Amino acid sequence: MEKGLDQPSNPDQALDALLEKARTGRLSAAERLKIPPQPMPQLDPVARRRSMQEVAVGYTEQQAKWEALRCLQCKRPSCVEGCPVRIQIPQFISCIVEGRYDRALAIIKQTSLLPAVCGRVCPQEVQCQQACVLCKRFGDPFKAVSIGRLERFVADQARSSDEIPKVDRPTGKKVAIVGSGPGGIVAAADTRRAGHEVTIFEAFHMPGGVLVYGIPEFRLPKAIVQQEIDVLVRMGVKIIPNFVVGKTRTIQQLLQEDGFDAVYIGVGAGLPRFMGIEGESLVGVYSANEYLTRANLMKAYMFGDCADTPIAKARNVAVIGGGNVAMDAARMAIRLGAERVYLVYRRTEAEMPARREEVHHAREEGVEFLFLQSPQRIIGDDLYHVRAIECIHYQLGQPDRSGRPRPIPILDARSVLEVDMVIVAIGNVAHPLIRQTTAGLQFNETGNIIVDEHCRTSMARVYAGGDIVLGAATVILAMGQGRIAAASINEDLA
Ligand SMILES: Cc1cc2nc3c(=O)[nH]c(=O)nc-3n(C[C@H](O)[C@H](O)[C@H](O)COP(=O)(O)OP(=O)(O)OC[C@H]3O[C@@H](n4cnc5c(N)ncnc54)[C@H](O)[C@@H]3O)c2cc1C
Repeated sequence: MEKGLDQPSNPDQALDALLEKARTGRLSAAERLKIPPQPMPQLDPVARRRSMQEVAVGYTEQQAKWEALRCLQCKRPSCVEGCPVRIQIPQFISCIVEGRYDRALAIIKQTSLLPAVCGRVCPQEVQCQQACVLCKRFGDPFKAVSIGRLERFVADQARSSDEIPKVDRPTGKKVAIVGSGPGGIVAAADTRRAGHEVTIFEAFHMPGGVLVYGIPEFRLPKAIVQQEIDVLVRMGVKIIPNFVVGKTRTIQQLLQEDGFDAVYIGVGAGLPRFMGIEGESLVGVYSANEYLTRANLMKAYMFGDCADTPIAKARNVAVIGGGNVAMDAARMAIRLGAERVYLVYRRTEAEMPARREEVHHAREEGVEFLFLQSPQRIIGDDLYHVRAIECIHYQLGQPDRSGRPRPIPILDARSVLEVDMVIVAIGNVAHPLIRQTTAGLQFNETGNIIVDEHCRTSMARVYAGGDIVLGAATVILAMGQGRIAAASINEDLA
């Protein structure tokens, strides 16, 4: 810790002195700027290669207070503008300085219902932290105030004493929530709070959406998601698993025969895209969705012990893609015992959509990055098992529609990589089931439901939000839409 102007040499005393100054409004911006960013304690990279334990351990109380003192408490906080749900960031951070963690949590919860989740998985470096004045000053969102880590700290402090939100008197109205991802969870909580009878229909045997089936335990412990689900249940929300809307019942049946007054559709974008190349149906080719679902939701890493779902073991794994899903799959493959895991991406590291933190963690754990190449075919053996991929190589050209430089194949530049598993992580799109079974609901050309700014769809009493509307997006955006949709439902049912 760098010493301030009149700080004692003992860090505890230094912290106490600065806290006192901050509380009495005497801590200057210059003193705040001298405090270095607090690193996140994390598990040892070698030890965690075979462990599902959460990698980021979380701030200690002292670290959280040091970090909170870095916040300049701007009068017009640009960080709030950078937050998709407009959390009052300086306010909750000043509560950390004062040690009022319950109050800090209450401030966050005014706009974000799942702070323990968002503090861990939100891409703060392109949202609130990118807008923070410290990011502008130091030219690096990782030197901004670590808003996400502070949000997580607050949520973890208060989690055990989580109160149940107040539920209004029964309205006699019934709301169906289709899908139990973050959007569905928020929509359920907010409509239940208004006194409606709320039922969540979930296709899987367990609620939580991507938070439980996609994002691995080592990034987001499932106990945290379960705690949020438990809160819903204690509020009186009914959860019906193994119920596929569009098959078990249609949206029209829920509305016309089952007595629901409103339906929120939050089914996500769970249909994996494939490359359409030779060899993609060989044994040993997985979509990242299937691979992660087996590992996370079905606990396949405990197969034969306490899980019934197997997962193929591989020595050399190629993961295709450069986003968060690819990073999760690669890091999972390491944990499932692969000796070498290659991440094959057709552009360079600078263009990878994955969070920088995840790339860093993947590299620390031994994932090898192969840039500017992608498979042209997957080669199998006589038993149709994956044996290798043949890649073509690229150079970068002019920006394409995504704004990123277009990868241009280099003539005759090819290589063969010996692998016995290929995990395809090149994106997910909307599943067509709801579209095929819901006449009158309007979709765009990519198969996403069209909504207005209040998350109302083209069908009366039907609302939608999250990835099924936005395409594969983020947890916080799904939550934001769940909240908007719930407000519309509550207004329309009033
Ligand atoms: C591997 C992975 C990692 C990710 N990492 C991050 C991250 O670090 N940070 C971040 O912000 N975002 C991340 N995302 C994206 C984020 O998880 C999603 O944007 C978010 O979960 C979308 O929420 P949602 O409420 O729309 O639905 P989802 O979370 O997709 O949940 C939809 C639910 O609906 C259910 N369902 C589907 N069809 C039906 C049906 N017909 N009937 C009943 N139920 C149905 C599904 O089983 C699922 O449980 C990641 C996504 C993946 C796949």
